[in-house]
Amino acid sequence: MAVMERKFSNDHRPRSGRSSGWRLPRRCRWAGVALALFILPFVAACEKSENRHFVTIGTGGVTGVYYVVGGSVCRLVNKSRAAHGIFCAVESTGGSLYNLNLLRRGEIEIGVAQSDWQFHAVSGDVPPFDTKGPDRSLRALFSLHAEPFTVVARADSGIRRFTDLKGRRVNIGNPGSGQRATMEVVMAAMGWTTGDFLLASELKSSEQGQALCDGKVDAIVFTVGHPNGSILEATTSCDAVLVPVEGDVIDRLIANHSYYAAASIPGGLYRGTAHETRTFGVRATLVSRADAEDRAVYEVVKAVFDHLGDFKRLHPSFRSLEPEEMLQAGLSAPLHPGALRYYRERGWR
Ligand code: GLU
Repeated sequence: MAVMERKFSNDHRPRSGRSSGWRLPRRCRWAGVALALFILPFVAACEKSENRHFVTIGTGGVTGVYYVVGGSVCRLVNKSRAAHGIFCAVESTGGSLYNLNLLRRGEIEIGVAQSDWQFHAVSGDVPPFDTKGPDRSLRALFSLHAEPFTVVARADSGIRRFTDLKGRRVNIGNPGSGQRATMEVVMAAMGWTTGDFLLASELKSSEQGQALCDGKVDAIVFTVGHPNGSILEATTSCDAVLVPVEGDVIDRLIANHSYYAAASIPGGLYRGTAHETRTFGVRATLVSRADAEDRAVYEVVKAVFDHLGDFKRLHPSFRSLEPEEMLQAGLSAPLHPGALRYYRERGWR
């Protein structure tokens, strides 16, 4: 009992005339310190994670250029992560329309899309966007490389012009891809349906090179920057040639739609095609949603334009990119405020 009393009186003796009612027993004070030490890292982590933000970029097939776009953008963003806390990741997807749909549903923050399909998503003028109506939440960041509408045929197929595709086995692309959607526009302009082909397959861009070389199809279609892995695979694994896409129908498409332009694929890029191939094309563009965080979009845009020289070295089709064109060509959606803030800082807007 005496011991207990001493202890009691030791722990609770008043000091400096202040009330001792709030003080913890010494044993508990140590427990308090230990608890604080335990909690502090979590508090710090919480503060840090307020700064942390995840951005996913929807791209295309792994042998296309969109996948390189996503990888290159994320590489630059992640390099300066310590400064901004943004984690950038790439997702391989079915392509332009797939990405535009993911964006509309808020499942990704950024996506790559062909300029013609950015236009159609904004205006809701043609299928599949006419039933959904105009996408008012779509925002543009900048445009990228040119994407010629490219047809490759087996050398032994005898296909030398676009009109030769009639009655043949053609891979018209997977639903959701830009090439499939643009191919359907061209087919409609030609007055063709899938019934005009002996076979209209729907393989993904990453599968079509092998299908061509295995003799499963006579020709493949891809709207894509050059050179790219998919067409390199097709032209090195077997004898294949690039087929020009020209004529009155194509001229009319170009004349009537601002998002199409005459294009050509330089000769000598691929084995089997030494001369230039004339066709028409669009542009690859980077798009986002109005509700994507301004700060994150700003940092993504800044990472690319602050290091544009590095970015241009990451793929041959980025080589001729210039800010003036990237801020204008092929953009139908309004600029995202995060992108606009960066462009204003640079005096570009
Ligand atoms: N233009 C294609 C599309 O929209 C993708 C091209 C690529 O993967 O580089 O689906």
